[in-house]
Amino acid sequence: MKRNEIIRNFLDHNNTEWDFVIIGGGATGLGSAIEAAARGYKTLLVEQSDFAKSTSSKSTKLVHGGVRYLAQGYIDLVREACKERGLLLQNAPHVTKNLSFVIPLYTYWDKFQYTVGLKFYDMLAGKLSLGKSVPISREETLKRLPTVKKQGLKGGVLYHDGQFDDARLAINMAQTAMEKGASVINYAKVVSLSKDEKGKLNGLTFTDLISGNNYTVKAKAIINATGVFADDINKMDHGTDKKSISPSQGVHIMIDKKFCPTDSAIMIPKTADGRVLFAVPWHGKIILGTTDIPVKQESLEPEPTEKEIDFILETASNYLNPAPTRADILSVFAGLRPLAATKEGAKTKEVSRSHKIILSDSGLVSIVGGKWTTYRKMGEDVVDKAEEIGGFNKKTTPTKDLKIHGYKKDVDFDDPMYFYGSDKEKINQLAKEIEFGEDIISGKFGIKKAQVIWAVREEMALNIEDFIARRTRVLLLDRNEALRIAPVVAEIMAQELGKDEAWQKAEVEDFTKTAAIYL
Ligand SMILES: Cc1cc2nc3c(=O)[nH]c(=O)nc-3n(C[C@H](O)[C@H](O)[C@H](O)COP(=O)(O)OP(=O)(O)OC[C@H]3O[C@@H](n4cnc5c(N)ncnc54)[C@H](O)[C@@H]3O)c2cc1C
Repeated sequence: MKRNEIIRNFLDHNNTEWDFVIIGGGATGLGSAIEAAARGYKTLLVEQSDFAKSTSSKSTKLVHGGVRYLAQGYIDLVREACKERGLLLQNAPHVTKNLSFVIPLYTYWDKFQYTVGLKFYDMLAGKLSLGKSVPISREETLKRLPTVKKQGLKGGVLYHDGQFDDARLAINMAQTAMEKGASVINYAKVVSLSKDEKGKLNGLTFTDLISGNNYTVKAKAIINATGVFADDINKMDHGTDKKSISPSQGVHIMIDKKFCPTDSAIMIPKTADGRVLFAVPWHGKIILGTTDIPVKQESLEPEPTEKEIDFILETASNYLNPAPTRADILSVFAGLRPLAATKEGAKTKEVSRSHKIILSDSGLVSIVGGKWTTYRKMGEDVVDKAEEIGGFNKKTTPTKDLKIHGYKKDVDFDDPMYFYGSDKEKINQLAKEIEFGEDIISGKFGIKKAQVIWAVREEMALNIEDFIARRTRVLLLDRNEALRIAPVVAEIMAQELGKDEAWQKAEVEDFTKTAAIYL
């Protein structure tokens, strides 16, 4: 993915009309771009920041049907998500995996209830099931979760769901969309929409935030996949402030693996606020989360509140021994769920996670809600609608078995470079070709210099945060390690991008400000 080439190519063909222009480079926009390009449409995607910078890099990292949604009675949603979970694990096996979850239970009635519920969960997945749910004894529960509170433990239920690396999948999706013929550009912010004399949308203008240049493009249909920012685009369309989104914040904290020294994830089924809490092994650490708090203001970098952090620690302390404390937090991050707005007073935890497609009078096709897990189906549904708006014949989806860039089976998840999939060999080759390419930047995460160069040349990383937060995941895994490597990453990137010392200094300063939010 070479941004300069895309922009140059784009300028050369700027008078041609795009079939679809997609606004937003998170899970939903990227899924839509793959869908549209794979159907053969001339597709452009513009993202105002980095791919997955917003909610799509801050998830719980689960590719799941949603046990909680089953308990709430959203059976169709769970069935659809279980199917998509199965497809994603098949199509991107290098960034996803089948993970076993254990629910520790303290009454026999709970053990019975969860066993029955999870058998039903298995049934909904049909032939794409990841493995059978089974009740397990107290001994087996403690074998799998050695640090779980023993007092009163009656046993557990073991079930399977998927896990993934969200930002890495997003980058691979951008690459897949390009391989299918789409143009995707990060740091390109849509600033206005244009309409014809009948009031129908026919294009938009975006600013290239790197050069400062404005570009106006023509499009047969425009898809608004901007998550919690959807109403900003709606306002450009019809000028009113009507809310279609109710953002809800979710926080996670990262702790050391010693608190759950196991390969199984823990699902705590009933928190004090009636949600579930997960403790999930990820890149050698444990993610604990999440919360669900309605917020008024959308932001690319939402800030966790003290109350949310306390809530997570308090809930974990009821189940883990030893319990993590503030001093044990390696990093903390918050994301905003783009939930479809509902009636005043509805609790966000009860708002359905299914997606909604909204068509405006001028033909803007907005997609809100949904989950990372269902991005492919969301892309399919929104492109179906955009086909109608653009006056195209309806095509069937070609993405159910489309392999995602980097596709590689049987990866070794203990390899620190596993998430590159089939690109790993190319990076190792690059490491041999460039000076000091094998030099280790982060021993903790096994990151070498060649990965920075690769990220700039092949993954459209433009600044140090792109590399430290999303091309690798150090910022989310260990904030202090992220700050430690920042100057080294800045120096390597500066050489590759032809930037000076002032650029490096500014990069480190900006990154330090962002990293302050993560602890
Ligand atoms: C705490 C939390 C945990 C979650 N955990 C899970 C999970 O484990 N599994 C799961 O399946 N789902 C999970 N989800 C849900 C999932 O993360 C989201 O549904 C998904 O990431 C939303 O993607 P999106 O593309 O719609 O939005 P976003 O990721 O927010 O993407 C929208 C993009 O639009 C861009 N944009 C906005 N305005 C403009 C503009 N003017 N011009 C250009 N671009 C613009 C933004 O910069 C942004 O990158 C979780 C969500 C949260 C908040």
